[in-house]
Amino acid sequence: MKNNDIKRGIYIHIPLCDYMCPYCNYNAEMINNKKYVNKYVDCIIKEIENLKIDGNINTIYIGGGSPNFISDLSMEDLLAVICNKIDILKLDEYTIEAKPNELEKKRIHILKKYGINRVSMPIQTLKASDKECLGLKYSKIDVESAINNLYNEGISNISTDLLLLNYKRSTIESILDEIESYKINHVTCYSLDEFLNNDMTNEIEYEYIIGLLKNRGYSQYDLINFSKNYSKGIHNSNYWKRGEYYAVGAGAHGFINGCRYSNYSDIKEYIYRVENGMTSIETVKNLSFKERIEEEFFLGLQLLEGINIEELNSKYLLNTLDIYRSIINKHINFGNLKLNKKILKLTNKGLLNSSEVLSDFLIDEI
Ligand code: SF4
Repeated sequence: MKNNDIKRGIYIHIPLCDYMCPYCNYNAEMINNKKYVNKYVDCIIKEIENLKIDGNINTIYIGGGSPNFISDLSMEDLLAVICNKIDILKLDEYTIEAKPNELEKKRIHILKKYGINRVSMPIQTLKASDKECLGLKYSKIDVESAINNLYNEGISNISTDLLLLNYKRSTIESILDEIESYKINHVTCYSLDEFLNNDMTNEIEYEYIIGLLKNRGYSQYDLINFSKNYSKGIHNSNYWKRGEYYAVGAGAHGFINGCRYSNYSDIKEYIYRVENGMTSIETVKNLSFKERIEEEFFLGLQLLEGINIEELNSKYLLNTLDIYRSIINKHINFGNLKLNKKILKLTNKGLLNSSEVLSDFLIDEI
């Protein structure tokens, strides 16, 4: 493949938040010091300027943390540098994460001006006790105003998280009604029961929620994501297809030329290194043949469309089914997988048992 034909993504990580959600297990820090935030933004700008991009960038994802927590000025500086570096008009998807209370008119105008066309934000209104428990600070008024502002600026590709707590079924239905009322086309389901020490989101509840989303026209396309009206997340789907992407920011992970790498996750260390002209990359892993095949199955099966075995076989010049014959047969017999001509994919039962099925594809030897 000519390099010009290669499509790659960029993931930009802003692991800074103005407060810490109690359930947070991301690489994020609560920062109140503006100087420190500005230093961090300067570093990611420097990293972007120094990126040696090969091929075409077709997606950018700015995640966190709370990327919209940075000032308007810093956001403009960052987005302008991205615009200088990348042909924004060629992007298939340009996403930023946000909290509803961060999306005032001025901010959305800036995002739109620099080509952002997709926003991922939580919108579900929680009862006061859940809000307090999760430390969420946005209100229904913030949600409505953010949605109106986004639509008015022409950003209609909105994704939201469905945070699953210890809810009654009627509550889940009313949350989905709320999501639908805002014409949100993309939903990511997260269970926070582990954090809350509940075990309510069991198999039946998971199936029930999938059913509710399907009845509302959302198609499930990976283990946790649902979309309608052609709004599948392109950047994230690319991860499952082993598409390549550059990493920018503390703790960000990248995958370029078959090599997985990650930046220093400690924010102070990251800043120190970038400011002093040192590499921001902490780990580099050239994947072995075995690891590449494992990833093809382990990652590829996360997509409900499954894996095209014929394509895999011609890519690796071997019959990949032979490697996993006993595992695949076992899970076909258990009803977790189905192999239809050349497509291998999870069944509905396999979806419920996905962690067990997928981990079987991590094997000792090939
Ligand atoms: S907004 Fe996200 S990254 Fe920040 S504290 Fe909450 S869960 Fe963690």
